[in-house]
Amino acid sequence: MALSLSFSVFLYQISNGEISRNFRRPIFVSVQDLNSGELDKLTYGRLREAQDRMQFGLLLFNLVVLIAGGAGSYFLARRTLKPIEEAFAAQSRFTADASHELRTPLTAMQSEIEVALRNKNLSSKASRQLLESNLEEVRKLESLSEALLKLAQNGHQKPEFQPVALQDVVDEALTNLKTRAKAKKINIKADSSPLVVTGDKEMLTEALTIVLDNAIKYSPAKSEVRIQATEDNHSAKLNVRDRGDGIAPRDLPYIFDRFYRGDRSRSKKGSEGYGLGLSIAQHIMQVHGGKISVSSRNNLGSTFTLTIPKAST
Ligand code: ADP
Repeated sequence: MALSLSFSVFLYQISNGEISRNFRRPIFVSVQDLNSGELDKLTYGRLREAQDRMQFGLLLFNLVVLIAGGAGSYFLARRTLKPIEEAFAAQSRFTADASHELRTPLTAMQSEIEVALRNKNLSSKASRQLLESNLEEVRKLESLSEALLKLAQNGHQKPEFQPVALQDVVDEALTNLKTRAKAKKINIKADSSPLVVTGDKEMLTEALTIVLDNAIKYSPAKSEVRIQATEDNHSAKLNVRDRGDGIAPRDLPYIFDRFYRGDRSRSKKGSEGYGLGLSIAQHIMQVHGGKISVSSRNNLGSTFTLTIPKAST
C-alpha cells in the first residue's frame, strides 16, 4: 500500500507538471476571445478538469490495490500459517498425551505408597508386594521414556542408506524377539528371501521388530506368525501375518496415530504398551520413501506390510 501510494504521488507530480507545461504553451485565438478573458477561463478550466480526473483515477487505483492486496495477503497468510497451526496443535496434543501417560504410573505408585504408609503395622510381605508393584510401574515408565526418546530421535536422526539384504533385517528382528515368542510358545515362520533394498538397516530392523512384537503381543499363545518377503517392479514388501483377534474396523484408521490403542488392547492382560510403536514404524517407512499398511478382519488376524523401495541396480 505504501509503495502504491508513493508511486501515485510521484505519478501525480510528474503528470501535473507535464499538463501545466502544455497549457503554458502559446495558443492562437481570435482577438475577440482574448478581450473577453474567455481564454484564461478555458485554459484553467481544462487544467482543473484534467487534474481532477487524474486524482480520481489514482484514488480508485489505490482503493483497488488496498482491497485486492488486503484480501490477497489475508488468503496467503492463512495458507502459510495453516501447516504451522497444525504442527503446533499436534505438538500440544503430543505433550498432553505424553504427560498423561507419564502421570498414570506415577499416580498408581503414589497412591500405593500412601496407603502403605498409613498402615503402621505393615508386614514385610506387604512391603515386598508394594515394592514389586512399584518396580513394575518404574519399568513401564522406563519403556515409555525410551519410546518417547525414540520418537524424538526419529525426527532428527539421519538415516544411513545402503543396500540392505532383507534376510538380515528379518534375522535380527527374530533375534530381538526370540525370548518373547518362546514365552508365549508362538511359532514364527520366516521364508528366506534374496531381496535387497536401499535403506537404513537398523531403522528397518526396528520397524519390523515393532510389527513382529505386536503380532506376538496380540496373538493367542501357541499360534503362528508368518513373515514373507514379496516384491513387485519397484518395491519389496515384508508381510507379517498373525492369527490374533484382528483389529476392530473402528480402530483401523487410527492405529498409526501416536498414543492410540485399541479398546481391546487396553483391557487385555499381557498387551501392555503406549500406542507409540506403529507411529514410530510409520515414520521409519516414510523416511525410506515407503509405507506401512495393514489388512485385518475381526477374529481372523492381521497382516501388516512394510513396503520398501528396491535398491536401484
Ligand atoms: P501398542 O501396541 O503399544 O498399543 P502400537 O502403536 O504398536 O501400540 O499399536 C497401536 C494399536 O494397534 C494397538 O493398541 C492395537 O490395538 C492395534 N494393533 C497393532 N498391531 C496389532 C496386531 N497385530 N493385532 C491386533 N491389533 C494390533
